[in-house]
Amino acid sequence: MGGLNAKTQYKWGIKNIIMAKNYRNGKPNRRARRYRVIKIRRFILAVIVIALIALLAIFGVKHLLANNTGYNSENGFIKYSDSLFKSIDGDMELYEPTKVQEYGEPMSFATNLPTTGYEDIDKAVADKWASDKKNFEEDNQTVAQGNQVALVAGYEASGTPYDAEGLAIHTFHYEKIDKEESLSEEVDCYNIATKTGGELTLSQMFYGDYESVFKEEAETFLTENYKDNLTEDYTSKIDTAIDNFILTEAGVRFFWNSGTVVTADQGAIAMTIPYGKFDGVIRDDIGKRIIDPSKPMIALTYDDGPSVDDSTDRILNVLEEYDAVATFFELGERVDEEGDRGAKLLQRELQLGCEVGSHSYSHPNLYELSTDGVENEAQKSIDAITNATGQPPTVMRPPYGNGSDEIAQIFGLPSVNWNIDTLDWQSRNADAVVDVVQGSGNLDGCIVLMHSIYSSSAEATERLVPWLQEQGYQFVTVSELLQYKYGHTPIENKHYGYYFDQPDGESDGE
Ligand code: ZN
Repeated sequence: MGGLNAKTQYKWGIKNIIMAKNYRNGKPNRRARRYRVIKIRRFILAVIVIALIALLAIFGVKHLLANNTGYNSENGFIKYSDSLFKSIDGDMELYEPTKVQEYGEPMSFATNLPTTGYEDIDKAVADKWASDKKNFEEDNQTVAQGNQVALVAGYEASGTPYDAEGLAIHTFHYEKIDKEESLSEEVDCYNIATKTGGELTLSQMFYGDYESVFKEEAETFLTENYKDNLTEDYTSKIDTAIDNFILTEAGVRFFWNSGTVVTADQGAIAMTIPYGKFDGVIRDDIGKRIIDPSKPMIALTYDDGPSVDDSTDRILNVLEEYDAVATFFELGERVDEEGDRGAKLLQRELQLGCEVGSHSYSHPNLYELSTDGVENEAQKSIDAITNATGQPPTVMRPPYGNGSDEIAQIFGLPSVNWNIDTLDWQSRNADAVVDVVQGSGNLDGCIVLMHSIYSSSAEATERLVPWLQEQGYQFVTVSELLQYKYGHTPIENKHYGYYFDQPDGESDGE
């Protein structure tokens, strides 16, 4: 039993050295002791700093990259859900949020959602959360205690240069099951027409090929910013953001859900394209005029213009007076012949929210032309309109209604005829034109054919517009009618002809 074991001897040895350092000649060596205390403090400080850096490296970076810090308590969940709310890049200031955090084991919920003051939008957002929550509860019924699952929803919102506001709801789905963590993020977008509090549809924001602008910008954006995180099949997923956007102060902000174009650890990602890039395809009257799909609507159309006399002006005057719109199928040749005056007329049409379509260049029977001949008519008429307004036409009507899918394809525009023919070119009599329209019964969903080059048609318009408005009709453009009344997204190479009102938009076979 006797003697010291090795460990004790070692301890003693250390103590003896310390004693030797702290005591010199049997007296306390204060300098050496103070020096040693400072050294120990430095050492402890260094350890703490290194530990903090390590903690930051482990949790901080992980949090920034993936938000996958998880939680194990009510307090932890509150912090975790707060960190998810904060991870949303965009602004929130536009609306007042209400925060609700409900910790549960294993299921937790948190929302930080806004009250926009727009009844329909607030209801849509609340309904969506309610249904997401219900689905989440059903999906996770069997998750065992000791695991964690959470549904968390926050938002970003922005004013715009238009009569519109943008709201994007970010929904996070977190789970830690058998210690395996995962987090996904989805974004749902609302573009609000502030005048009515309704949601804007695509054609109320864009009138041209905005998708090409999106695609070009998206490719550059993704390869420049997420080069190392792109998913293998990202090119086939780029389009998932095409209709998932909000309008903001700065531009159009598109969202990809997590795991679509970049790896899931990046969360959902956003790309803002400045409005300038959309020149010629984005409407500048966004939010100004709203269509109610549940109410009757009518599309007045005027061919063969612009007029030599003041007929087109008179038609535009009455449309402006009654906040009405129409579609003008212009002849390229007439536009060119009218020069600056013609350009001003077409520009006024667009400014009033009217649609400008092509009616060919020189009004031939397109059936009698070669393909080259049709191409020539298409190109020259589109050039004339584009030169006059800065914007290409968005729809075409073949002279005499003689169109086909092939002709529409050459023009690169949806081709549309009419179903109420006023025969104004024949009668040249305002009473007769008014009689045709007033005698046609229910006009909901109708396209009325007139010509903007006769003073009798201008006079008929002056009487018809107030009468139609009194009857409760909304005035819409041809493209709007196709979309709102018949659910078509106007297709560029399709001749809807006289069959635009068919559910499948069947062409008339020519
Ligand atoms: Zn014509």
